[in-house]
Amino acid sequence: MTFIHLLPDHLINQIAAGEVVERPASALKELLENSLDAGATDISVILNKGGIQKIRVSDNGAGIAKGELSLALERHATSKIASLDELERVASLGFRGEALASIAAVSQLTLSSRHASGVHAWRVAADGGQLSPPEPAAQEQGTTIEVRELYYNTPARRKFLKSEATEFGHCEDAFKRLALSRADVGFSLQHNERVCWRLAAIAESPQQRIAAVLGEDFARSSVMLDESAAGLRLWGMAGLPTYSRGSRDAQYFYVNGRFVRDKLIMHAVRQAYHDVLHLDRHPGFVLYLELDPASIDVNVHPTKIEVRFRDSQAVHRFVFHALNKALASTLQQSVVPPQPSLAATSSTGGAPDFEYRHQQAIPLGVTERSQLYQTLFGQLAKPPLSNQDAPVASVEEEIPPLGFALAQLHGIYILAQNRFGLVVVDMHAGHERVVYEKLKRAMDNRALASQPLLIPVSFPADRLDVTVAEENGEVLSQLGLDVVPLSPTTLAVRAVPLLLKGADVVLLARDVLREIREFGASRALTERSNELLASMACHGSVRANRSLSIVEMNALLREMEATERAGQ
Ligand code: ADP
Ligand code: MG
Repeated sequence: MTFIHLLPDHLINQIAAGEVVERPASALKELLENSLDAGATDISVILNKGGIQKIRVSDNGAGIAKGELSLALERHATSKIASLDELERVASLGFRGEALASIAAVSQLTLSSRHASGVHAWRVAADGGQLSPPEPAAQEQGTTIEVRELYYNTPARRKFLKSEATEFGHCEDAFKRLALSRADVGFSLQHNERVCWRLAAIAESPQQRIAAVLGEDFARSSVMLDESAAGLRLWGMAGLPTYSRGSRDAQYFYVNGRFVRDKLIMHAVRQAYHDVLHLDRHPGFVLYLELDPASIDVNVHPTKIEVRFRDSQAVHRFVFHALNKALASTLQQSVVPPQPSLAATSSTGGAPDFEYRHQQAIPLGVTERSQLYQTLFGQLAKPPLSNQDAPVASVEEEIPPLGFALAQLHGIYILAQNRFGLVVVDMHAGHERVVYEKLKRAMDNRALASQPLLIPVSFPADRLDVTVAEENGEVLSQLGLDVVPLSPTTLAVRAVPLLLKGADVVLLARDVLREIREFGASRALTERSNELLASMACHGSVRANRSLSIVEMNALLREMEATERAGQ
């Protein structure tokens, strides 16, 4: 018979570790946040074997006094809040007092620190949560925490760690997120004895930090923005549509200095890009939202990646308007202003929508087209439309819902005429939907045929993408893709889905790898498969500015009608 009993502390910590420290990158994130909370202006990170063997973070922050060293490693021990009231206004990155205790429970950890008031430094060591008494150590003011052999004492968890290269990739992502959150702090990162990043503290312009982390090409093709209203401020850099990324890897959003991936925010951002970003479904941006800490709840998720806004509608509106305004101001000439939607088909998951828009005043030389229009309609209805004796009803029956193409507008839209008037069809979105439905059917039937490329296309990739490709050959082939590593930083595409044979194969491969990397292969193929197929479809569809013949346009309109019927 078993009795209800309290779990021993170290077991509680090991369980908590499962939530807070999923992998080396999450431990690194917690350590970096602690250094920032301690007021550090210089932080260096040393990793070995993807952080699995060693993560060492040193800072020049306030330090921890001798008497508090072991307390820092206790669960629910924090210097950052003391009451519920303070929790509601928390401005520091940490506050749960959980991270160090959790990390210490599943690793060999040493903590050395010299507090501003100390004569020298002290150090404590924890082995699987067992603490040793403090002993003197050599260390400048600040704190160094070294975490070795993460999960050495919980083999079941250790098994879940991926290859060294994958874990390093995640660590690097975490490092970049934190480095972008504080341009005024210097950061460096070393992996397996090699220096990967050295970012000097920049007092005045965070742009420089953004450019250093995301690259000059992002900095060149983005706009600065800084908008405030009603206690809210949004600032940072928003990539222009010319900064084409086939993936979400350049999206950084911070709420009061904290990196978040929030549904509401992402929705507002996508809306703001909706009218300007025609082809690239994934804009790049580094944006900082600032608001009264009392108006958000950051204690929603153990890793604090989600936040809850007291007035979410107001935040949504503000983010949308601030960003939309910044984008519109630079893109006015190249963009068709949004028109009221005439009809929108229902959408499933991340599937693209058709857009039919009211034709308003777009100056066009339509006169020379009317001849063609007559010809098309004339073919359908005999005697021709112009003949007043024609039985109008029968003519109407034969005019398809999207009508007949008259012209291509701005290289983006098809102007067509149906029995109600003019219809403007977004040809990219339309084609995308057609391709999407075909892909989806093929996937459902496990019949996504792939087309080997005559000449494989190689492209530079980061290490994480290379290992993701290596580890997920099976999944990629289910998607009709064959992507193989050529070197630690080069991948080659050898086959693509037959349905996407005209696609930019590199963008396509990058997008798919990104999805697997972000959500894991099994989620990518199940709950996220609609999003995945939608972004694949995007690559297989007609690009803007490609001119289509009237025959091609009509073929597309007919396919769209057929797809729509099939899809519903
Ligand atoms: P939290 O950050 O939620 O308070 P942690 O477990 O991450 O909890 O850290 C516990 C405490 O240890 C912190 O509240 C802080 O007082 C102290 N601490 C941790 N890291 C550092 C550091 N790098 N410099 C100074 N103090 C630190
Ligand atoms: Mg912390």
